[in-house]
Order: sequence, then structure tokens, then C-alpha cells
Amino acid sequence: MRAASSLVVVLLVLITVWTTGACSSGSVGSYRSASVRQTLAHSLLKNPRVGLANFHVSGRRDSATAMDNMRQAERGAPSMRSSYQRAPGGSVYLDIQMLWGMHYLTKSGWSYRVTELAGGSHSKKSSHYRGLAFDVDYINGVKVGRGNRHLRGFMWKCRQLGAREVKGPGTPGHSSHVHVEW
Ligand SMILES: [Zn+2]
Repeated sequence: MRAASSLVVVLLVLITVWTTGACSSGSVGSYRSASVRQTLAHSLLKNPRVGLANFHVSGRRDSATAMDNMRQAERGAPSMRSSYQRAPGGSVYLDIQMLWGMHYLTKSGWSYRVTELAGGSHSKKSSHYRGLAFDVDYINGVKVGRGNRHLRGFMWKCRQLGAREVKGPGTPGHSSHVHVEW
């Protein structure tokens, strides 16, 4: 709880700086958004409701697992993409709106495990490669699949938090995970 309340304080300060428009130069602007990304990544790494896979479902090993990606964001670095199969390699900054969404999901009581952020191999022009999507394979401790009773509520909440695309069982290629995209 202490970590949660200190996060709120940090974010309130950041929001105050924003709304008062204390600084207006572009470089300071990107510095501010970097701080928000780092703060959110730090909070998500500590959040017991968020699991971050330290492996790829494909079995490939690299520095682009969900856990790696979040640690890179916490350091203020871009997150690594994989470079196998269709994955293009390189790196990308995780989207701040997506990180907010991940944070607010837990505030609404959801817990989930993230299997991929920017890493892994997805379809050719996947939004994962742009830092805009995450995949989930467990919701409230239950494996994602057609019979998962948490599925509908979780997917609804993602949309309510601004995700523009949410796909799960019933969509080809998504029988065992939910794709959430900002
Ligand atoms: Zn996905």
C-alpha cells in the first residue's frame, strides 16, 4: 500500500508540472514523458498483480522478454524487440497510455500475467513492435481459454481503459492468450 500511495504522490506532482505548464520546451517535454514511463514501469515491476514472463512462449532466448522489456523501460531505455521469425529486431519505447492501462487494470482488481510486450514474434506489422500491445495468458490466476470465466470482464475493462483492439479466444491465433493493443 505504501508503494501505491507514493506512486500517486509522484504522479500528482508530474500532473501538476504538466498542467501548470512550468516548462514548454520539446526536450523537457520528452524528459517528462520519460519520467512517467519509468515511474509506471517501476510500479508495474513491483505490483504483485502483474506477472511478467521471463521467457518467450516460442522457447527462444533473448533480452526481449516481457520482464526484460519492463526493466528496460524502468531504466528509461527503449525496450528490445526480438529478432527471430517475423520479429524485426531493434527497440522501441513502451507506450505510456498502455502502461497506464496496465496499471489501472490492477486498480480495478485484476491480476494477470504478461507473456509479451515488444518482444516475441507476431504478425508482420504487429503493434507489439511499436510498443503498443501486450499479451496475457493468465487472468486472476486462471489460464486463458474459452472456459475462463474472467475473460469477458477483463477484455471489457481493457476496452474501457482505452485499448483500441482486444482479441482473445474465438479469434484465430488467440485461443490461449488475450492481445491488448493501444
Ligand atoms: Zn499480441
